[in-house]
Amino acid sequence: MTVTSEDRLTVLVPLAIEHAALRGRLPEATLVRVGMGPDKARSASAGLEPGAGPVAVAGFCGALAPGIEPGDVVVASEVRGPDGSVVPCAGGPLVAALRRIGIDRVHFGPVASAERIVRGEERTALAETGAIAVDMESFWAVQAAGDRPVAVLRVVSDSPERELGANVSTVTGGVAAYRTLRRAAPALAGWARAAGPRTVLLAGPRSFCAGVDRAIEIVERALDRYGPPVYVRKQIVHNVHVVQDLERRGAVFVDAVEDIPEGAVTVFSAHGVSPQVRAEAGSRALKVIDATCPLVTKVHTEARRFAAGGYRIVLVGHEGHEEVEGTTGEAPEAIQLIGSAEEIDRLDVADGERVAYLTQTTLAVDEVEDVITRLRERFPKLTGPGSDDICYATTNRQDAVKALARESDLMLVIGSENSSNSQRLVEVAEREDCRAKLIDDETQIDPAWLEGVATVTVTAGASAPESLVERVVGALGGLGPVRVENRTVVAESLRFTLPLELR
Ligand code: SF4
Repeated sequence: MTVTSEDRLTVLVPLAIEHAALRGRLPEATLVRVGMGPDKARSASAGLEPGAGPVAVAGFCGALAPGIEPGDVVVASEVRGPDGSVVPCAGGPLVAALRRIGIDRVHFGPVASAERIVRGEERTALAETGAIAVDMESFWAVQAAGDRPVAVLRVVSDSPERELGANVSTVTGGVAAYRTLRRAAPALAGWARAAGPRTVLLAGPRSFCAGVDRAIEIVERALDRYGPPVYVRKQIVHNVHVVQDLERRGAVFVDAVEDIPEGAVTVFSAHGVSPQVRAEAGSRALKVIDATCPLVTKVHTEARRFAAGGYRIVLVGHEGHEEVEGTTGEAPEAIQLIGSAEEIDRLDVADGERVAYLTQTTLAVDEVEDVITRLRERFPKLTGPGSDDICYATTNRQDAVKALARESDLMLVIGSENSSNSQRLVEVAEREDCRAKLIDDETQIDPAWLEGVATVTVTAGASAPESLVERVVGALGGLGPVRVENRTVVAESLRFTLPLELR
């Protein structure tokens, strides 16, 4: 991607002190001193030089939301005017750029622009709208940006507890804000370098599978039926956004049954539990609703069947994963866990004639085939489940990634760190020579990944909501025009029924 002077970053800076903080720190950008307040911001915006280059507003702000301190950075997801109008911003990747240069106290959310300094009750009322910070220029400054990528980076100089005034905290807040703004400048340059037109390929299928859909619906219906709190043992599915959303609605996530009050409504997660956990729940008289995915339950049934038949069971999976712990608990004496083919030699098997294998449902299809082939070389009479344990959703999402990897410069896999099936999607793409990154949301898209990238594939693990896909595509679209193509390799229609008590 060639950058011309027309593509140059323009940074609109309201105050002289903010301008001083950025001076010399953005050699690739045009710094424009705007002046304070709506009128000056409006006329600076009208005076924007024509071109396609990104536009950023940088300066200080007042915090609105609790927990945001002087010296913290606020990146706008959107800016709101006093009349309720909204200008969307492409701030997500800027958050990642700030974190990459070591600025960790970054808050991402709506920024409100006010016509005058707001204090006291007025400030509280603005906070109640959901805005996390307030300034007096951003909304008007970006008015004339049109289709150009827009970012708003503000550093907090005062908070509701320490409002602006002639006091010491105003000075210390201003100094902290000045220093952080100066440090933050390279992130703006990095963000601007990611701007440009792109093609976005949407891999299909992606996002929620039938088991995850069912598990989330179980918690939602339990909350409706029994009211909060509803306890959930472990994360209902491995996704930080899903968990936070359910927490806001009254779900309480705990690590162990012993953390749940006796008799409480309790949901077991989609990954399944061992018989021991069920027994503990019984002894605490918990009202249990089981959200174990039926495809995990199938593996549990196979484990019991092979163990009853006197088989040594080799379980292929990841040590410590909840699904593996649950399956192992069905027949702890009979099961040995291996994570890769390299571990086959250390298996301790007395009777090589009676060996069976099972697998975690979310492994990489190709890797498992290799492990089973090597297991069969050591145990020619190896037996296994009637049909593969790797579930349809895992297989389909990996197939879609494989189909698109070779025409993509970058693969963005939406999913949380602890999501096994999302991690496998990254590995599958990498095996096809495609650079792939796991992200929780748009604030983890490092703009450096996008430099020179023309085609990005976006997919999502089985536990990541489709709304995050929309946010990621929106963030890419905020960096320049995007052509979005849906590429679905197979349609999915499977649904699982809910437990009787919640239908
Ligand atoms: Fe069930 Fe597969 Fe989804 Fe896991 S990934 S919840 S096994 S459908």
